[in-house]
Amino acid sequence: MHCPFCGANETKVVDSRLVAEGQQVRRRRECIACHERYTTFEIAELLMPRLIKADGSRQPFDEDKLRAGIQRALEKRPVSVEDVEACINRIKHRLRATGERELPSRQLGEEVMAALRKLDQVAYVRFASVYRSFQDINEFREEIERLSEEDKAGG
Ligand SMILES: [Zn+2]
Repeated sequence: MHCPFCGANETKVVDSRLVAEGQQVRRRRECIACHERYTTFEIAELLMPRLIKADGSRQPFDEDKLRAGIQRALEKRPVSVEDVEACINRIKHRLRATGERELPSRQLGEEVMAALRKLDQVAYVRFASVYRSFQDINEFREEIERLSEEDKAGG
Protein backbone atom coordinates (compact mmCIF):
# COMPACT_ATOMS: atom_id res chain seq x y z
CA MET A 1 0.00 0.00 0.00
CA HIS A 2 1.02 3.61 -0.54
CA CYS A 3 2.58 5.57 2.30
CA PRO A 4 -0.29 7.30 4.19
CA PHE A 5 1.96 10.32 4.80
CA CYS A 6 3.43 11.14 1.39
CA GLY A 7 1.74 8.67 -0.97
CA ALA A 8 4.99 7.04 -2.10
CA ASN A 9 4.54 3.42 -3.09
CA GLU A 10 7.88 2.11 -1.85
CA THR A 11 7.74 1.00 1.77
CA LYS A 12 9.72 -1.58 3.65
CA VAL A 13 8.66 -3.86 6.48
CA VAL A 14 10.79 -3.22 9.55
CA ASP A 15 9.00 -5.59 11.92
CA SER A 16 6.44 -8.37 11.54
CA ARG A 17 4.76 -10.36 14.25
CA LEU A 18 1.74 -12.54 14.94
CA VAL A 19 -0.96 -11.04 17.13
CA ALA A 20 -4.48 -12.01 18.27
CA GLU A 21 -3.41 -15.58 18.96
CA GLY A 22 -1.92 -15.95 15.52
CA GLN A 23 -5.06 -14.77 13.71
CA GLN A 24 -3.43 -11.53 12.56
CA VAL A 25 -0.06 -10.31 11.36
CA ARG A 26 1.04 -6.92 12.57
CA ARG A 27 3.58 -5.21 10.33
CA ARG A 28 5.60 -2.13 11.12
CA ARG A 29 6.41 -0.36 7.86
CA GLU A 30 8.73 2.48 6.95
CA CYS A 31 8.34 4.69 3.91
CA ILE A 32 11.44 4.71 1.71
CA ALA A 33 10.73 8.30 0.64
CA CYS A 34 9.74 10.18 3.82
CA HIS A 35 10.87 7.64 6.45
CA GLU A 36 7.60 7.88 8.39
CA ARG A 37 6.58 4.67 10.11
CA TYR A 38 3.13 3.13 10.32
CA THR A 39 1.49 -0.16 11.23
CA THR A 40 -0.66 -2.47 9.15
CA PHE A 41 -2.68 -5.49 10.23
CA GLU A 42 -3.28 -8.43 7.98
CA ILE A 43 -6.25 -10.75 8.53
CA ALA A 44 -7.27 -13.71 6.39
CA GLU A 45 -10.50 -12.94 4.59
CA LEU A 46 -12.63 -16.02 4.84
CA LEU A 47 -15.86 -15.53 3.04
CA MET A 48 -18.94 -17.10 4.50
CA PRO A 49 -21.52 -18.66 2.20
CA ARG A 50 -24.66 -16.62 1.63
CA LEU A 51 -27.85 -18.00 3.11
CA ILE A 52 -30.86 -19.00 1.03
CA LYS A 53 -34.05 -18.39 2.96
CA ALA A 54 -37.20 -20.50 2.64
CA ASP A 55 -38.74 -17.95 0.25
CA GLY A 56 -35.68 -18.21 -1.99
CA SER A 57 -34.22 -14.83 -1.11
CA ARG A 58 -30.50 -14.60 -0.34
CA GLN A 59 -28.98 -12.99 2.72
CA PRO A 60 -25.38 -12.41 3.70
CA PHE A 61 -24.21 -14.43 6.70
CA ASP A 62 -24.63 -12.22 9.78
CA GLU A 63 -22.35 -13.18 12.65
CA ASP A 64 -23.91 -10.64 15.04
CA LYS A 65 -27.34 -12.09 14.42
CA LEU A 66 -26.00 -15.60 15.02
CA ARG A 67 -24.33 -14.50 18.26
CA ALA A 68 -27.52 -12.75 19.42
CA GLY A 69 -29.57 -15.90 18.80
CA ILE A 70 -27.12 -18.08 20.68
CA GLN A 71 -26.87 -15.62 23.58
CA ARG A 72 -30.66 -15.46 23.83
CA ALA A 73 -30.80 -19.26 24.12
CA LEU A 74 -27.99 -19.19 26.70
CA GLU A 75 -29.53 -16.49 28.88
CA LYS A 76 -28.67 -17.13 32.55
CA ARG A 77 -26.95 -20.41 31.68
CA PRO A 78 -23.50 -21.20 33.10
CA VAL A 79 -21.61 -20.94 29.81
CA SER A 80 -18.55 -18.73 29.40
CA VAL A 81 -18.03 -16.10 26.70
CA GLU A 82 -15.05 -18.12 25.49
CA ASP A 83 -17.23 -21.19 24.98
CA VAL A 84 -19.80 -19.13 23.09
CA GLU A 85 -17.12 -17.69 20.80
CA ALA A 86 -15.59 -21.13 20.24
CA CYS A 87 -19.08 -22.40 19.40
CA ILE A 88 -19.60 -19.59 16.85
CA ASN A 89 -16.20 -20.28 15.31
CA ARG A 90 -17.01 -23.98 14.97
CA ILE A 91 -20.31 -23.18 13.26
CA LYS A 92 -18.60 -20.78 10.86
CA HIS A 93 -15.89 -23.33 10.16
CA ARG A 94 -18.45 -26.00 9.35
CA LEU A 95 -20.34 -23.71 6.97
CA ARG A 96 -17.13 -22.69 5.19
CA ALA A 97 -15.96 -26.29 5.06
CA THR A 98 -18.90 -27.11 2.78
CA GLY A 99 -17.10 -25.10 0.09
CA GLU A 100 -20.48 -23.81 -1.08
CA ARG A 101 -21.08 -20.17 -1.94
CA GLU A 102 -24.73 -20.43 -0.92
CA LEU A 103 -26.42 -22.65 1.63
CA PRO A 104 -30.02 -23.06 2.77
CA SER A 105 -30.48 -21.03 5.95
CA ARG A 106 -31.95 -24.08 7.67
CA GLN A 107 -28.49 -25.67 7.42
CA LEU A 108 -27.21 -22.88 9.66
CA GLY A 109 -30.12 -23.57 12.02
CA GLU A 110 -29.20 -27.25 12.16
CA GLU A 111 -25.55 -26.41 12.84
CA VAL A 112 -26.54 -24.07 15.66
CA MET A 113 -28.72 -26.76 17.20
CA ALA A 114 -25.96 -29.36 16.95
CA ALA A 115 -23.47 -26.96 18.55
CA LEU A 116 -25.83 -25.90 21.35
CA ARG A 117 -26.67 -29.47 22.09
CA LYS A 118 -23.04 -30.11 22.99
CA LEU A 119 -22.72 -26.81 24.84
CA ASP A 120 -25.84 -26.68 26.98
CA GLN A 121 -28.97 -28.81 26.74
CA VAL A 122 -31.32 -26.18 28.17
CA ALA A 123 -30.09 -23.68 25.59
CA TYR A 124 -30.50 -26.32 22.92
CA VAL A 125 -34.15 -26.95 23.83
CA ARG A 126 -34.82 -23.20 24.01
CA PHE A 127 -33.29 -22.62 20.59
CA ALA A 128 -34.88 -25.69 19.03
CA SER A 129 -38.32 -24.77 20.37
CA VAL A 130 -38.13 -21.38 18.67
CA TYR A 131 -36.34 -22.56 15.57
CA ARG A 132 -38.48 -25.54 14.82
CA SER A 133 -41.66 -23.80 15.99
CA PHE A 134 -42.87 -26.96 17.63
CA GLN A 135 -46.31 -27.76 16.30
CA ASP A 136 -47.74 -28.69 19.66
CA ILE A 137 -46.72 -29.43 23.19
CA ASN A 138 -46.45 -33.18 22.49
CA GLU A 139 -43.72 -32.68 19.98
CA PHE A 140 -41.85 -30.54 22.50
CA ARG A 141 -42.29 -33.18 25.22
CA GLU A 142 -41.04 -35.91 22.88
CA GLU A 143 -37.92 -33.88 22.22
CA ILE A 144 -37.27 -33.49 25.95
CA GLU A 145 -37.88 -37.20 26.50
CA ARG A 146 -35.55 -38.09 23.67
CA LEU A 147 -32.86 -35.92 25.25
CA SER A 148 -33.21 -37.46 28.69
CA GLU A 149 -33.13 -40.94 27.13
CA GLU A 150 -29.86 -40.04 25.47
CA ASP A 151 -28.52 -38.72 28.75
CA LYS A 152 -29.27 -42.05 30.41
CA ALA A 153 -27.50 -43.79 27.55
CA GLY A 154 -24.48 -41.65 28.28
CA GLY A 155 -24.79 -39.56 25.13
ZN1 LIG B 1 6.13 8.50 2.90
